[in-house]
Amino acid sequence: MNNLLLKSYLRCKRKAWLDLWGEKSLKTWSAQQSIHLITEFRNFNKFTDGNLFKGRKACEKGFKGVIGLKIRDKLNNNLKIDLHPPLLIRTNGDSIWGKYKYLPAVSKLGRRTTRENQFDLALCSIFLEKFQKAKVEYGLIISLQNNKIFTEKIFINKKLRDKAINLFIELNESLKNKIPNITENRKKCSICSWKQFCDKEAESNGLLTDIDGIGTKTAQSLKNIGIYNIKQLATCDKSKLKNKLSIFDENNFKKINKLINQSKSYLSGLPIHLKSQKDSLDLFKKLNKGFYVFDIESNPDENHDFLYGLLSIDNLSDQPKDFNYKPILNLINKNKYNLEIFKELNYRSDWPILHFGETEKITMIKMAKMINLNKFEIDSLESRFIDLHLLMRNSWILPLKNYSLKTVANWVGFDWTQKNISGSKALYWWIQYSNTNENAFLKKIINYNKDDCLATLEIIKWHLDNAHKFLKES
Ligand code: SF4
Repeated sequence: MNNLLLKSYLRCKRKAWLDLWGEKSLKTWSAQQSIHLITEFRNFNKFTDGNLFKGRKACEKGFKGVIGLKIRDKLNNNLKIDLHPPLLIRTNGDSIWGKYKYLPAVSKLGRRTTRENQFDLALCSIFLEKFQKAKVEYGLIISLQNNKIFTEKIFINKKLRDKAINLFIELNESLKNKIPNITENRKKCSICSWKQFCDKEAESNGLLTDIDGIGTKTAQSLKNIGIYNIKQLATCDKSKLKNKLSIFDENNFKKINKLINQSKSYLSGLPIHLKSQKDSLDLFKKLNKGFYVFDIESNPDENHDFLYGLLSIDNLSDQPKDFNYKPILNLINKNKYNLEIFKELNYRSDWPILHFGETEKITMIKMAKMINLNKFEIDSLESRFIDLHLLMRNSWILPLKNYSLKTVANWVGFDWTQKNISGSKALYWWIQYSNTNENAFLKKIINYNKDDCLATLEIIKWHLDNAHKFLKES
């Protein structure tokens, strides 16, 4: 038993169980976990000015920062525990080593302080006090924002200590039982190293949360009226379901109808078309004169857009090799705007800008305001954006678990040239590049971004082809 399991437990009870008892070969590499480890080391190194040393000897010698220490102890005299404090920081005091003592510190990604951060500090403090025979009043949370180190003090009061101990006892009980159910908040699964393992089980059990739009609350409401899986939901009569769920709101009724259709599509593997012919004809006309596909890569924790990728499409029926892809790098997070991307987009100012998800439009409009474009210019820029993600959601019900770029593009037959790729992996490459200045990482990111643009293109082609086909058939 250790504090790492408690961190997993706080994320998902099943994850803690799998971390301890699961078949390790079924666990996959997690970009998010690697990003955490790299940024943790970078933050600790920066905070201690590189004065970081390892283990018990480092404590005895009184080094400023200590990593890699393991404290063995017992909770309530019977529960064995191994504590791995991520970092100890030397401070004034009286301890077994002399006129100094240590405080625990953890690193966080982004700005949000989590329960994991707080309980990890509390648990480490409780056992560090016994280990060094000196009181720990507070712990530190270290983060890096805009290349500056920030620290937050967390006071280790009685309430926090008691909660941490109770949680640890609860974790111990949970680990004695059989494997917990898959979490209903499946958003957590996207960055988990057990995702593939859990996805298989969810699929074979037809879990309701595999349906796009069903979260914890909706799944519970459906279970309350006896609907436990996708098959049951797909065969529901929408009016009867409306009555059983006591739905009076028209929007909620539409949502229920959509969930039933989503379940049907998921089980049959067939898409359902929702939009009129006029919409797809209008879109075809708009794109027929040429358009851009636009995709941004960014590091959200540092609010840094480091790559703007632009694909120019003169003619939709051209071969991909004929499309001109231009990566615009923004390596230094200094100005919050980039004039080169405006120049490129204005080169064909009558072309629509196709993108997947709202980020690109929001970013460009924000930048347009920063560089003081007037209202007319901003409105005209705004009118050029076409969000393909929104368009697909409004036009189709697809036999998929979600409508992310990767899922939809894979389904329409697009293959990324680099295998097992994801946004987190691109971010992992970016952090590696930031630490090493190795151009090989930048190259991988640019290839990934180009593929994201090509994937977006493949989806719009599928949409235009199939919208026509569906309308003809109907
Ligand atoms: S994939 Fe999801 S359900 Fe499975 S262990 Fe991870 S977070 Fe929990």
